[in-house]
Amino acid sequence: MKYCSECGHSIERRWIAEQGRERYVCPSCGLTYYTNPRVIVGCLVYCGAKILLCRRAQEPARGQWAIPAGFLECGETLEEGAARETLEETGVVVATGDLHLYSVVNMIAIEQVAVSFRVGFTSEPMIRCGSECLEVAFKAEHEISQENFAWLRSMGDAQQRFFRELRSNEFGIHMVTLGTTQADQCGWREYKIDSTTNAKD
Ligand SMILES: [Zn+2]
Repeated sequence: MKYCSECGHSIERRWIAEQGRERYVCPSCGLTYYTNPRVIVGCLVYCGAKILLCRRAQEPARGQWAIPAGFLECGETLEEGAARETLEETGVVVATGDLHLYSVVNMIAIEQVAVSFRVGFTSEPMIRCGSECLEVAFKAEHEISQENFAWLRSMGDAQQRFFRELRSNEFGIHMVTLGTTQADQCGWREYKIDSTTNAKD
């Protein structure tokens, strides 16, 4: 953004001492522009030992495999956004009530927060390749090569963790903070829910 949406004057970056950070401010009308992280929502859809993946048709990571995910829209809950992205990219209908929180990932460097849910199927649902994908498929762990999996370097052993949980059918909720550079390790905290406290699930 270069110009003020209120008065059309060019905006500038200013240090706001009381907030301890720089923001874009219009020097003419005084309007402050707040930029905040965006929210990505996605689904880990699994059936047996396989997970549903899309080969991305767009940058970043074009040609690489990833779970269906995208930006949360205004007016949506996190679960609704994750279900919509899954439908758009793979044709798979997931009920928001069936989604279980799986991970929350802080991605400071790219100013995003990613929230993913998991949902299991007992038989493989019909899939359809969405317009933002080159290919959609259920894949087992051995069918996913390290080089072809998007975000793998920054996500550490996320993929192995998920398949391990899938095999044991015991899932945690993961709070992850990605390093701000490729060399940084990602921080990882796992929460377990006591199954006796949510027996209705
Ligand atoms: Zn202005």
